[in-house]
Amino acid sequence: MGSIRLENVSKSFGETAVIPSIDLDIEDGEFVVFVGPSGCGKSTLLRLVAGLEDTTGGRILIDGKDMTDTPPSKRGLAMVFQSYALYPHMSVYRNIAFPLRMAGVDKAEIDRKVREAARVLNLTDYLDRRPGQLSGGQRQRVAIGRAIVRAPTAFLFDEPLSNLDAALRVGMRLEISELHQSLGTTMIYVTHDQVEAMTMADKIVVLNKGRIEQVGSPLTLYRNPKNLFVAGFIGSPK
Ligand code: ADP
Ligand code: MG
Repeated sequence: MGSIRLENVSKSFGETAVIPSIDLDIEDGEFVVFVGPSGCGKSTLLRLVAGLEDTTGGRILIDGKDMTDTPPSKRGLAMVFQSYALYPHMSVYRNIAFPLRMAGVDKAEIDRKVREAARVLNLTDYLDRRPGQLSGGQRQRVAIGRAIVRAPTAFLFDEPLSNLDAALRVGMRLEISELHQSLGTTMIYVTHDQVEAMTMADKIVVLNKGRIEQVGSPLTLYRNPKNLFVAGFIGSPK
């Protein structure tokens, strides 16, 4: 569970074809990073997968099922943004529990799932706090916790660490990688940061002006960049 396939997916805003046509296969359990310069269409592509934007053309298959016109809440995916979108007046516990309460899950089950997510994310001691009393990294973990309790078939991250300072970012990268290892769930991770892409990905998708320049493992892209764009973006350490 958790394969995602894009077939000839395109997206225009008015006259502008932000994504002319993309084909992509993501396997169950893969950690895939979309990387590319600002404005190249990473967020748009992720939002298409999530269903937060309608496609202009093409098909999106999740676990082999055509979900092109399926609303976001029925795709079984969980999205984590850079702005954590936590409820400031609610405790950490209630923030994490929120999607389950909305889904009408019973109290005992909610409690079990929230505590399990808190354990995985080292938030057990913070469940009674409010977001304002947490560090940036802890807040980001609460946002991830809220995604985890829904047991999604895939996690979609859009530059989740870009609000954090450099030191915290390194730690959170490791935590997200570890989370991927322990859950084994498909993850798509959007970043403009080459280091993040190279250190986290099973598979990197290099985007440029709404097109895929190259798809491959970090080592493949490093050793055999297809063109100067990929070489310049991934290859040469500065
Ligand atoms: P990235 O995430 O790689 O920085 P985006 O996917 O946000 O890039 O944007 C890709 C392009 O699409 C940009 O030129 C942006 O201005 C444009 N764009 C994104 N969303 C909209 C929108 N809702 N309406 C019009 N243009 C948009
Ligand atoms: Mg973006």
